[in-house]
Amino acid sequence: MTARHEHRFDAIVVGGGLAGLAATRRLAEAGLHVALVEKRDRLGGSSALSGGWFALSDTPVQRRAGVEDSDDVFLADMLETGGGFADPLLLRGLVAHQAHAVAAIDKADAWTDELKVSAGMTIARAHLIRIRGLLASLERDAVAAGAALLLGRPADALVKEGTRVNGIRSEGEVFAADAGVVLTTGGFSRSRELLDLFVPDQAPAMPYGGVGSTGDGLRMAWMLGAGLADVGHVAGTYGQHAEATDDEHELLTANYLGAILVNALGARFTDESESYKVLGSAVLNQPRRMAFQIFDARVRALSKPGVPLSDMERIEELGHLVNAPTLAELGRRLELPPGALEGTVEQYNESVAGRTADAFGRTGLVNGVGALLPVARAPFYAYPAVTAMTSTYGGLRVAPDTTVVRVDGSRIEGLSAAGEVVGGFHGASYMTGTALTKALVFGVVAADTITGGARLTT
Ligand SMILES: Cc1cc2nc3c(=O)[nH]c(=O)nc-3n(C[C@H](O)[C@H](O)[C@H](O)COP(=O)(O)OP(=O)(O)OC[C@H]3O[C@@H](n4cnc5c(N)ncnc54)[C@H](O)[C@@H]3O)c2cc1C
Repeated sequence: MTARHEHRFDAIVVGGGLAGLAATRRLAEAGLHVALVEKRDRLGGSSALSGGWFALSDTPVQRRAGVEDSDDVFLADMLETGGGFADPLLLRGLVAHQAHAVAAIDKADAWTDELKVSAGMTIARAHLIRIRGLLASLERDAVAAGAALLLGRPADALVKEGTRVNGIRSEGEVFAADAGVVLTTGGFSRSRELLDLFVPDQAPAMPYGGVGSTGDGLRMAWMLGAGLADVGHVAGTYGQHAEATDDEHELLTANYLGAILVNALGARFTDESESYKVLGSAVLNQPRRMAFQIFDARVRALSKPGVPLSDMERIEELGHLVNAPTLAELGRRLELPPGALEGTVEQYNESVAGRTADAFGRTGLVNGVGALLPVARAPFYAYPAVTAMTSTYGGLRVAPDTTVVRVDGSRIEGLSAAGEVVGGFHGASYMTGTALTKALVFGVVAADTITGGARLTT
């Protein structure tokens, strides 16, 4: 290597979100001299912004709630959701190593009892975790074990010796990492250039996610010949107000509680129980690229204050929920064509009552599960929402032990990647909670790979 080493560590982790903090703690606790480099002046990334839902199977929370789940059903649901595109080896690894996530959540005392069925699930498997508490606990432990946290420090390039990665370059300085580098730089939801390149039809989605999510890790590994996975399936998430701010989690999925979606013409256009990623693409094709979540007093009563995706109180406080005593009045307030909303709801209620087949094949609240409710009890509500690019679930191709793999299938020794920078887990669609679970689980697996301690069973 020609570059001079100005800082020497055993391992470098690039990016301080959930995956990066999990990897850093594990490496430091294994006795390695490790540095976490984060380009922003604070840790957290998209992880700190997230709803905190984790997909996990066969947990004490599920057992207490009387929910019977198993690793096999979890795997089958993910394979089904991925539509044949997700890498089964990675998914088996995720299920087999869930214990890493459970142990970290235990240690942080970050469990809640909130459990629900959400996108891509046939069983209540989305667990609400106190995400900021979890991140703080990982950071505390990493520092206590001797990790160096270098904030305001962007990695610009990977450094190689022969074919092996053994460091990074940052603002003209080299940071040596003899055992290897873990890329945990998150996704590219904030890179218009990469969105235009991979999924131009999604580019009009509202940019969202951590502001550091500009695809840096993907580009750095790409420079070394890394392969890519799932990038063509990247899709925005439906359910956020167009005026949501960068720091306010404002996603609502009232459709999974019984709401219908209608477009700016007052018409339904899809099966509302589909994954919010599938709905995101459908909404981008509607007039004004938006859709209203329309629901009644029964669904409004199911709101859970403080619970992301179901918190209607917060949305009301923000002034983003419209209500009216009748459907006709609601339609007027939303400036829909006269009579359109009443007609749409009447037709929908007929199918809920079993007198006609649903025009879009909807048979359940979410993913085909849960009994449908008519939109019938006044007052009536509308949440106008758009498709936001919250996260990009395509990225680097990795082996099940997280080593980044080149386009020809060979391994880039010394380079691991975990979290949203990685592709291959989600395929064509998305199961709620799998992004955080994979970030936490594979952050730990990446650290074990770097220390040579990975004992993968897949
Ligand atoms: C609003 C919202 C809600 C979500 N809700 C959920 C949910 O409930 N459940 C779920 O599973 N998923 C959810 N997601 C997705 C999930 O949060 C992310 O996929 C996950 O947190 C990614 O974790 P990560 O550690 O890979 O990346 P991040 O948490 O984004 O961390 C990456 C870090 O790398 C840093 N970085 C980037 N480039 C560089 C560089 N060159 N040098 C140094 N540092 C760099 C960034 O600044 C950032 O701090 C949500 C996402 C959003 C935006």
